[in-house]
Amino acid sequence: MTAPLPEPVSLMPSPFQMNYTYVAGGGRSVFLRGLVGKKLLARQCPSCSQTYLPPPEFCSRCLTRLGVPFALEGRGTISTFCIVSFPFPGQVYEPPYVVAHINIRGTGTRLMHLIREIPANEVQIGMDVEAVWVSDDELAPSLASIRYFRPVTDSSEGPR
Ligand SMILES: [Zn+2]
Repeated sequence: MTAPLPEPVSLMPSPFQMNYTYVAGGGRSVFLRGLVGKKLLARQCPSCSQTYLPPPEFCSRCLTRLGVPFALEGRGTISTFCIVSFPFPGQVYEPPYVVAHINIRGTGTRLMHLIREIPANEVQIGMDVEAVWVSDDELAPSLASIRYFRPVTDSSEGPR
């Protein structure tokens, strides 16, 4: 005679803590400091012309040191997005909300950020968006200095 099988494990508390220090490096430090002045500082590779935002120190394509930082306007195009519909522990925003990859005009890379001021089900790939900054006294060397991106409401065309 065999003993009955135990109930399957369905939950296992696993409290843990991770303390770490993020080292931005020389390239991304320039980008983060630019955010304090409401500037999106990009850098271009002098060898292959790829433009990075945020920029690392070296081109990931050809390992050439990137050129001097230059400011871009905070407009771009949604290249992909997801609608976060479910709550989870530590969540800052109430679902549903949209997180998108945004190709800032003038770059060949993408930033990930929130899309607000539009119903989640109306967001589309290819939509033009612009940065909405926090108030001047809240600016910090952090992507949180951009509160979110919103659809561009005027029809003026900036540089692409
Ligand atoms: Zn390159």
